[in-house]
Amino acid sequence: MSSINRRTFIDRSLKGAGVTLVASSVGRSLTAAPQESRKIGYALVGLGNYSTHQLAPALKETVHSKLAGIVTGSPRKIPNWKVRHGLADAHIYNYENFDSIADDSAIDVVYVVLPNSMHKEYTIRAAEAGKHVLCEKPMALNAAECREMIAACKANGVFLGMGYRLHYEPHHRLVKDFAKGEKLGVPTYFQGEFAFRIGGPGQWRLKKELAGGGAMMDVGVYCVQGARYAFGEEPVAVRAQEFKTDPVKFAEVDETISWQMEFPSGAVANCTTSYNARTNRLYVSYENGVVEIEPAYGYGGIQGRINFDKMEFPAVNQQAIHMDAFALEIMEGRPPAISGEEGLRDMVVIDALYESIQNHGKRITL
Ligand code: NAD
Repeated sequence: MSSINRRTFIDRSLKGAGVTLVASSVGRSLTAAPQESRKIGYALVGLGNYSTHQLAPALKETVHSKLAGIVTGSPRKIPNWKVRHGLADAHIYNYENFDSIADDSAIDVVYVVLPNSMHKEYTIRAAEAGKHVLCEKPMALNAAECREMIAACKANGVFLGMGYRLHYEPHHRLVKDFAKGEKLGVPTYFQGEFAFRIGGPGQWRLKKELAGGGAMMDVGVYCVQGARYAFGEEPVAVRAQEFKTDPVKFAEVDETISWQMEFPSGAVANCTTSYNARTNRLYVSYENGVVEIEPAYGYGGIQGRINFDKMEFPAVNQQAIHMDAFALEIMEGRPPAISGEEGLRDMVVIDALYESIQNHGKRITL
């Protein structure tokens, strides 16, 4: 793979996302040539870990985007956000007055970063307020909810994008590009594993009503996504099995699931997710080689090899690139590349995986 000019690849690849990398972007941040001075204003809904430690800092590294508002049910968080991000009271909302965001011209996008069961409600309310929506993964509790969200955004003439940040990470963009078969031949086998040891009980991720499911909904979705973009096709059938070592802690949600996805070409994906193990890997076997990414799914520190030759990509801020890409799509009136339909396709697969588990590992066709 040393024959691949990696710098050229990443530049071309990120340009595909509407973003131009320049030499100084090597490191954690991204610098791009602004195409116009207007910036798209984002309002973060839900000021938990992901908003606080990833998205808000990432917005400071964007070129076409800015933090323009917040929506929170926790008044105690407001002073700190005001100081750190220079927000005026006029752009700070709670869950009750959220709908008045419709009158706030500083806010173009509502970014839904709430527990999974709240994604549908806030996506629909944002759409009805005339705001574009970026929604975190998993898109909703099931495919039916995703369809309602897509319909609401369509009816209100706003874009719906999914927070699948890895589409803006160079190793993953390479895997997506290799699906065409031009570099290593046709992909035939995918292995995806994403598991971590979740903390103590009591958190919403362990409650079915709020999370919809366990490890599968939270991080297994990355493997479903990965298999779909590694093969560049949609699965036709799935089989899944669930395992539990701690039926008390994981009484409401899945702890560990292993599953297979069959693709029309005959290619297969073998995947595992867990809230009680540690693994973080993506592997694709092609006619003429292999790609391995490990660790694969984090915000940084991603490492990969092509045919045992280390890939050397610059570290990028995935969230900053993604939010800027969505901003450019809005400014240029181009439907989002990573849209609600992407979230729906994953949720269709996840619904089928849970159906298979309910039916003792039965093969479910899609
Ligand atoms: P978190 O628990 O840290 O934050 C959740 C926020 O929602 C908190 O501010 C909390 O106050 C608020 N909230 C409102 N109603 C709530 C309720 N009934 N119960 C609990 N919290 C409530 O969670 P997080 O890690 O920030 O995750 C939020 C969303 O972002 C989830 O959908 C998650 O899957 C997604 N996420 C995505 C990534 C990614 O890499 N794309 C990473 C982390 C989280």
